[in-house]
Amino acid sequence: MANIIISKENFFHNLNQIVLKTGSKQKVAIVLKDNAYGHGLTQMAALASEYGITEAVVRNQQEADAIKPYFLRVLVLGDVAKLDEQCTYALNTLEDIERAEEGARVELKVDTGMHRNGIAMDALSQALKAIQNRGLQLVGVMTHFRAADELDSSYFWQIKQFEMVKERVKEAGFMGVRFHSHNSASILRSQHFTEDLVRVGIAAYGYSELPEVFKVPTLKPVMRLMAKRVATRTLQKGERIGYGGSYEAPQTMEVSTYDLGYGDGWCRGDATNPYVTAEGFPILGRVSMDLISLPTTQEEVCIFSNAQEAAKHFGTISYEITTALSMSIPRIVI
Ligand SMILES: *Cc1c(COP(=O)(O)O)cnc(C)c1O
Repeated sequence: MANIIISKENFFHNLNQIVLKTGSKQKVAIVLKDNAYGHGLTQMAALASEYGITEAVVRNQQEADAIKPYFLRVLVLGDVAKLDEQCTYALNTLEDIERAEEGARVELKVDTGMHRNGIAMDALSQALKAIQNRGLQLVGVMTHFRAADELDSSYFWQIKQFEMVKERVKEAGFMGVRFHSHNSASILRSQHFTEDLVRVGIAAYGYSELPEVFKVPTLKPVMRLMAKRVATRTLQKGERIGYGGSYEAPQTMEVSTYDLGYGDGWCRGDATNPYVTAEGFPILGRVSMDLISLPTTQEEVCIFSNAQEAAKHFGTISYEITTALSMSIPRIVI
């Protein structure tokens, strides 16, 4: 069966690089949303916990419930706030505040310029009042950068905006609130980290999408995608492979099928511009739902050991390659 090998050593290496920036493990929240970016929710939760991480970020309550035993606190980004001794909930809109269960522990997301989620700056006072009136516990205030991975002045402008938010929250009399704005790109480029927490996803899994001008620590990809041989056959010159017969054998050759396809979340791509595996085998013909053909007889092949290289081939980013991989592929930690 196709499987995903998770390197604990590489994961810990990446976390070490982040901790060098934050100064402490307690300030790192590992983002485990979307099946830990495809790496396996519970496997990555267990590893992060073993490393000493105590904070996690997920998308919904279901993910939070699955990983609670591993962490002190779990921030839920996209679900209705309820009373839960371990979870805090991001509030993205004034409606979220109205919907929250009384007494829930919440973290207010403020829109400092990304204009995707979060309370508008000019609705901040109203939101803080509503949080008080509804009897919610304000645990954190957060924002998200729209271009931390680009040479773009909006990053500095958003930092300034968030500094104003911090002032206003303090002036409103809220105590003990944690402030956080950094994701992977912004913590990697940051030189003087002073906030209470970073929310780090992609960097922990081994990738930086920052351009080279930023001197970024070396990260190591955590995931390797492997596929197993199903069958081998010998093709004569002129015989064709797969749907549409788009690949024609130029001479007698041995070809094997492997148990991976677009049904597993692997990209179908364009057969006229074949993907080449980590070991140098081009995919022959079209990718099927559950199978690909390669010119080798190896029992097992490595499809990729670096999702960013695969992403380049398919014109996308590392996030999309890893996150798309089906939940049903076994994740094996080594
Ligand atoms: C996904 C997400 C992150 C992590 O982003 P990376 O670029 O993967 O580090 C941080 N904060 C929020 C609000 C997110 O949704």
